[in-house]
Amino acid sequence: MNGDLLVKNVRALGGDACDIQIQDGHIAAIGPNLSVLPDVTIIDGGGRLLFPGFIDAHTHMDKTLLGLGWYRNEVGSLLTDKIENERRLRRERAIDSHQQSTRHARLAIATGTTHIRTFVDIDTEVELRGFEGVMRTQDDFRDALDIQVVAFPQSGMLIRPGTVELMETALANGATVVGGLDPSAIDRDPARHLDVIFGLAEKYDVDVDIHLHEPGELGAFSVELIAERTKALGYQGRVVISHAICLGGVDEAYLGRLIDLLLENDITIMSHGPSGLRPVPSVKRLYEAGVRMCTGNDGIRDAWGPLNMPDMLLRTFLIAYRNNLRRDDEIEMVLDIATFGGARVLGDTTYGLAPGCRADLVLVDGETHVEAVIDRPPRWLVLKGGRVVARAGECVV
Ligand SMILES: [Zn+2]
Repeated sequence: MNGDLLVKNVRALGGDACDIQIQDGHIAAIGPNLSVLPDVTIIDGGGRLLFPGFIDAHTHMDKTLLGLGWYRNEVGSLLTDKIENERRLRRERAIDSHQQSTRHARLAIATGTTHIRTFVDIDTEVELRGFEGVMRTQDDFRDALDIQVVAFPQSGMLIRPGTVELMETALANGATVVGGLDPSAIDRDPARHLDVIFGLAEKYDVDVDIHLHEPGELGAFSVELIAERTKALGYQGRVVISHAICLGGVDEAYLGRLIDLLLENDITIMSHGPSGLRPVPSVKRLYEAGVRMCTGNDGIRDAWGPLNMPDMLLRTFLIAYRNNLRRDDEIEMVLDIATFGGARVLGDTTYGLAPGCRADLVLVDGETHVEAVIDRPPRWLVLKGGRVVARAGECVV
């Protein structure tokens, strides 16, 4: 046996029943009735549904509370309440980010996630401990899960002198994305906040991903400032605005102008169908306008709240639910965001179900791919680079 596989009788997203030949971790051929090559392990897919690996393009592996017992959440409603509460909890419980991100990675793999972009808190209190723990996990799982690390100033950047220097150390040591956070609402100096973020991006040649919870016209102003800097730096295609709540809170004419800015500068919007009563960006409106989109689970069972789980089929369901998307073609659109949309953001040019793509594949029971979003059956088999990493809903690495 040479590790090569022939997966027979599966139904690809948007396609008919087919077989997949996998050689050297990549898809060598996909089509009906492929011939059996010598020394190949045959897997009978039994007519199951085939997805490309799921892409969680926005999560926080350093601070999940998975496995630490139930955390009774009594946090206040303001963003700053949540940030303060989390820092206090981290002090009191000495959360080990290597252990926690390992638990998170295993659950993600079990549900068919093959790629993660994770934000790691960097501040003058935790310093680089969270970052170092997640970097160890990135290395531990290098053959089972792609983990891209964002240097993220969760507690604010300019308001906490010393934070920028710590972020620089992370960017020099393996973080490949620089994160920003509410340039007006948290740092209260949007132009300078964004100048520092884009300055770090240029210096270390890394992508940008900015958490933007700012509402209405305040957030829209931040979108304009981000677009200006994206253009000035020639960073088209390398910038994500995460949440972008403001896109749900401006009038139609202003939204149209903001969409034009996003398109001109090839800026991606990450939306995850958040809970809450505020209007959120219409995933369908943005997608149909041609705005690049990705999604992710955000924080998993952490001090911010217990509602998220590391399952991208559940995430797809939640986005559909929050956006009132009921038609099959609409739910297929969300599946595209949770797979191909995220892969583009993470820069994986070998992603997909075509010959030559890396064999990152998920097989599940079900009649249609949309039905799998609703039923969310255990993942029957998950392959990463042609290697089995989960079986019957359990991580096996
Ligand atoms: Zn987040």
